[in-house]
Amino acid sequence: MRVFLETYGCQMNVADSELMAGVLQRAGMELVERPEDADAVILNTCAIRENAERRVLGRLGDYAHLKLANPALIVGVAGCMAQHLRGKLLERKRVLDLVVGPDGYRALPELLRRAAGEPVAAVRLDRDETYGDLEPRREPGVRAWVTVQRGCDKFCTYCVVPFTRGRERSLPLPDLVGQMERAAARGFREVVLLGQTVNSWRHGESDFADLLRAANDVDGILRVRFTSPHPADMTPRVIEAMATCERVMPHVHLPLQSGSDRVLEGMHRTYTRAQFMDVVAQLRAAIPGVAISTDIIVGFPGETEADYQATLEAYREVHFDSGFLFKYSARPDTRAFRLPETVSEEEKGRRLTELIDLQMALSAEVNDRWLGRTVEVLVEGGSRRDGAQLHGKSREFKTVVFADDGSPAGRLARVRVVGATAITLIGESLDAPGAQPLVSIGG
Ligand code: SF4
Repeated sequence: MRVFLETYGCQMNVADSELMAGVLQRAGMELVERPEDADAVILNTCAIRENAERRVLGRLGDYAHLKLANPALIVGVAGCMAQHLRGKLLERKRVLDLVVGPDGYRALPELLRRAAGEPVAAVRLDRDETYGDLEPRREPGVRAWVTVQRGCDKFCTYCVVPFTRGRERSLPLPDLVGQMERAAARGFREVVLLGQTVNSWRHGESDFADLLRAANDVDGILRVRFTSPHPADMTPRVIEAMATCERVMPHVHLPLQSGSDRVLEGMHRTYTRAQFMDVVAQLRAAIPGVAISTDIIVGFPGETEADYQATLEAYREVHFDSGFLFKYSARPDTRAFRLPETVSEEEKGRRLTELIDLQMALSAEVNDRWLGRTVEVLVEGGSRRDGAQLHGKSREFKTVVFADDGSPAGRLARVRVVGATAITLIGESLDAPGAQPLVSIGG
């Protein structure tokens, strides 16, 4: 069977698609690049915002057309939306042959075979499934995504994830170290540890600080990152591990969500603004120059102008390097869904635009501070915009572009910053021509 996988949503989903690809390939199925060449298409979906679901429903319309030309085509929906809208999706029997939730991927080949005969649903959440023993089929590159934890126990009132991905489960440390070693052997130079609240990872006696130290010791891995930690789980032990492990990068994506204690309580985020600021202060004291990015939701039910102003104030106080900024989107099944929406779409839009403008100004300021300094860049390849340029990330996760000096992907290059925008640092390589590279690992 030839299968086309299409992925929507967060990095966890990208990693899940790699997991599914591994499962399918081991079962002798072939992954193809175009839906037209496939016997089965699977959309790996996201349910976090209404928009994401709408896009997938639109895409199913496209596949309905493809199915007219090829009635044997199997169309499947996987992931969070499959779990969330399972009842509704199963009504679309004319288009849809398979609905599979995030805990059903182990049986995917069998489900696909059955779906060739009749519509199939596998949407049972499984408290024990971690897929720890299954090797993903990683897309080539310098960065390997390693899922260390599945599900979430935090139950933020606006979030559908605990209902779509189930309860929190951590993968065993030896499985994770094995995955990272195999990734290093295949040429990956950076690992990103993934989990909904990644720093609450715990297995047996080991906690996330131990996992960071284990990742730091994997031969061939030059950089370790993680996303997304929960502020309430950012313990002194984790901060100390970050500070003392040379390969753990000085960047944290720390979701604040709101600067108002009243709203944070309504969201059930389990920390106050003061506690968040304390974590930021600890990070900055332990890791000089640490970059901090965040997530914010504006327009949560009951958010007043004063609450919103508190968010702006907190945003300025931390001086975030960058942020993912969103309008609140009510999701069925969540506790916040039952709250009356008090902020109009127009007002949400105004708040979001203002916050984006603030972020752009702060990012430009932060990036200007890099002018004239030398950064270490993990080269990822040619720039998409300009073939004569290379691009990569600095240790602080800033995108850096510089003239192609022949550095292969996977090399650490020394680059002097000669220009900056809010989004990108522009540099010139200090390794060319003829200079010794910082590290050469042969791509
Ligand atoms: S921590 Fe909150 S926002 Fe993040 S996945 Fe869990 S419930 Fe959702």
